Amino acid sequence: MKIMKNFIVLCLVALMLYGCSTVPITGRKRINVVSDAQILPSSFAQYQGFLKENKLSANRSKTAEIKNVGLKISKAVDRFMRANGMAAEAENYRWEFNLIENDAVNAWCMPGGKVVFYTGILPMCANTDGIAAVMGHEVAHAFAKHGQERMTTAYGQQLGGVGVMLATGNQDPKKAQMWNTIYGVGSQLGMLAYSRTHENEADKLGMVFMIMAGYQPVEAVNVWVRMSQRADSGSAPPEFMSTHPSNETRIQNLKAYLPTATALAKKYNAQMLRN
Ligand SMILES: [Zn+2]
Repeated sequence: MKIMKNFIVLCLVALMLYGCSTVPITGRKRINVVSDAQILPSSFAQYQGFLKENKLSANRSKTAEIKNVGLKISKAVDRFMRANGMAAEAENYRWEFNLIENDAVNAWCMPGGKVVFYTGILPMCANTDGIAAVMGHEVAHAFAKHGQERMTTAYGQQLGGVGVMLATGNQDPKKAQMWNTIYGVGSQLGMLAYSRTHENEADKLGMVFMIMAGYQPVEAVNVWVRMSQRADSGSAPPEFMSTHPSNETRIQNLKAYLPTATALAKKYNAQMLRN
């Protein structure tokens, strides 16, 4: 039984070391043990299912605009990946952009680059650069593999719970301490804290990508100002806001990051010209 416990401990530690990597551009350390091969087939199938069950917009010019902005931004991401040693990873993405007829103020992106915009978010976007701001943010979630990381966290919390249970019956305080450390780390990476980290990261990466694709980053700030105004006006808060917390801090963060994003975009675009 003791050998079995030691074996489980060893597996967990190996899992965490093996799954450690760094998010490109932001440099944030993450733990992701979910591979593209494991997650992408089911992600693509879910997306196709969603499109079948929902009504695509009949507005041809708006649909074309969404697809065009998505294509430009995903091309910037693709070029970045190929210029920075991520060519194999770039091959796994199947970028797709659709506009559905739905009044909800919403947009999302599934792992592997499957994006949906709802017609209800278009007034918040207001113009092509505003669409690019939301698109950049969504594409960034897929680029940084936030979905995969969330899955890893869910697994980690379950395994961590098992770990504490194992340690409780163990007399060795060092072993208990180790489990608490692992579990403590796992708990800090809980959904809420994680979510905010992911949102900030998607804001930053999205801004870099929209600038690389030639759009005006000030609209990233303006989109969130419009979202807050709508919430303040007393109409139901946009659905996008419940999953994407909008507040003064966020608007300030976006404003503060604008010069950095501009410099990074310039650097990455120059790097691509050289290759
Ligand atoms: Zn988001």
